[in-house]
Amino acid sequence: MSQHFLLSAKARSLSLAKVARLSDAEAYETFKLVRWSATDGQPVCPRCECAAVYTYETRKLFKCKACSHQFSVTSGTIFASRKLPVRDYLLAIAIFVNGAKGHSALQLSRDLDCQYKTAFVLSHKLREALAAEANGQTVSGEVEVDGGYFGGYVKPANNKTNRRDRRFVSNQNGKRRVVVVMRERGGRTLPFVFRSEAASLVTIARNVAPGSIIHADEAAHWDALHARFLTKRINHSESYSDGEACTNQAESFFSRLRRAEIGIHHHVAGPYLSAYASEMAWRENNRRVSNGEQYLMTAAAALLHPVSRQWKGYWQKASRT
Ligand SMILES: [Zn+2]
Repeated sequence: MSQHFLLSAKARSLSLAKVARLSDAEAYETFKLVRWSATDGQPVCPRCECAAVYTYETRKLFKCKACSHQFSVTSGTIFASRKLPVRDYLLAIAIFVNGAKGHSALQLSRDLDCQYKTAFVLSHKLREALAAEANGQTVSGEVEVDGGYFGGYVKPANNKTNRRDRRFVSNQNGKRRVVVVMRERGGRTLPFVFRSEAASLVTIARNVAPGSIIHADEAAHWDALHARFLTKRINHSESYSDGEACTNQAESFFSRLRRAEIGIHHHVAGPYLSAYASEMAWRENNRRVSNGEQYLMTAAAALLHPVSRQWKGYWQKASRT
C-alpha cells in the first residue's frame, strides 16, 4: 500500500520552528513579498495603484508619490490595525494550516501568548479570507449533494419523569441548522447553511453547472433535483455505494467538520457555523497540498482580502449580531 500523503516528506515543507526563527525584518520582508507578489515585494499604493512611493527609513510606512496616501504593509488588508508583531501573524497562519481538523482559539492564544479574544478574531479573519475565495464559485461534472445537522442540542432532564421526546419540534430549541454541501468529484467543495435540507434547492440550482450529474441520498426533498439535473440516488438503508451512485465524498467532508466540532471547537453552531464549514471545505480541497503551500495560500488570501467588516474592532462594537 502506498504511503498516506500526510505521512510523506512532500506534505511537510514548512516547519513552525523555521517561522519562529524569522527575525522581525525577515517576517516583514515576507509580508511585503506575499502582498505585492506581482512587483517582487515593491509596495504599490492601495488607493491609486501607483508604484512610485516614498519609504521612510525609521518607520515601516510608505507614502504614495501620486496621491500622498500613507500606508503600511498591512493597511487595507485583513490585518489592518494590527496589534501583534508581523512574525506572530505568520506563526498564527502556520499553526492554523497545520491543524487538519482546525485549531481552537484557546489553543492559539496559548501558542502565541495573546488574549483569547485576539486569537478568536484572528482565526475568524483567516476563515473569512479563505471563504471569500469560494464566493461565486460553481461546481460541475459529477457532484455529490448531502446535508449534515449541527447545533441545537437540548440537554435531557436529569430525572426520567421530566424527560421529553427530543424528536418533536416542540421540544427542540430551534437552533438546529443543516450544512448542505455540493462536492465536485476531484474538484471543489461548496458548503452552505440552511434551516432544512429542502431549503437548499435554489442554492443548488445556482451553484451546480447545468449538465452536471448529481448524486444524492434517498431523502424525498431531493426528488425535485431530477427536473433540473441527471440525478442518481443511493439508498443508505441498503448500501453506501451501489456502483452507480454514492455520496461518500460529501460524507467525508462532514466527517472532517464533525471531528472539528467534537474534537476541536466543541461548538460550531450558531452564527459561525458557515465560517467553520467554509474552513473545513478549504482544508478538504487542499488536503493534498503541502503545508508550506497552504501557508503561502492563506497568507496571500489574508493580505489580498480587504478589511473585514464583520471582524474589524469586533470586541469594541456596542452590539454584535
Ligand atoms: Zn496613491
